[in-house]
Amino acid sequence: MNVVIFGPPGAGKGTQALNIVKKFNLYQVSTGDLLRNEVKNDTDIGKDIKNIISKGDFATDEIVNELIKKLIFDPQKKNNLIFDGYPRSLNQAQNLDLLLNKSNQKIDYIFFLNVGKDTIIDRIKKRKILENRDDDNLETILKRYDTYMITTKPVLEFYSKKENFYEINGDEEIPKISTKIEQILSV
Ligand code: AMP
Repeated sequence: MNVVIFGPPGAGKGTQALNIVKKFNLYQVSTGDLLRNEVKNDTDIGKDIKNIISKGDFATDEIVNELIKKLIFDPQKKNNLIFDGYPRSLNQAQNLDLLLNKSNQKIDYIFFLNVGKDTIIDRIKKRKILENRDDDNLETILKRYDTYMITTKPVLEFYSKKENFYEINGDEEIPKISTKIEQILSV
């Protein structure tokens, strides 16, 4: 099965994705990780996006669409994918449908982690202490939230019409959210 998990920064996408990966043996496709990897390895893409990421802006659709392509067509990972942080724009959502279609796959479950701004700020502050990500200061958090609201809203509208769309209350305790998601995936 293929799963999409989306929601604002700090909604707990990464944590939930990791849990699903372990329980259901899926491969996590995190465009945030893929982009940070490009920066770390100082590739051409990495050089282009370093400042964009640290300011809280989005990488272009072209860059992220290219980065996920290989993983979608990888026979070892096919039909066992969980997308975390992708798609973040309508263009990306349509691109994902297109690539999955081309490779005879589909999205089986779409989870939207709906979370309030206060919870997000709180969680990202904690994550800053744990992971020391340089895009986790308060100014960047708020910028990322605003960018998210503007750019990702059309993705929510696009997905919420689908029958395999599930909205999850992301303000709840993390283990509770995990249980809910697991129950849906186990049916
Ligand atoms: P994340 O780890 O998902 O929170 O992503 C960290 C940062 O990487 C984001 O704030 C964006 O700058 C960039 N990024 C990650 N995924 C995408 C995407 N699908 N489209 C554009 N930019 C992205």
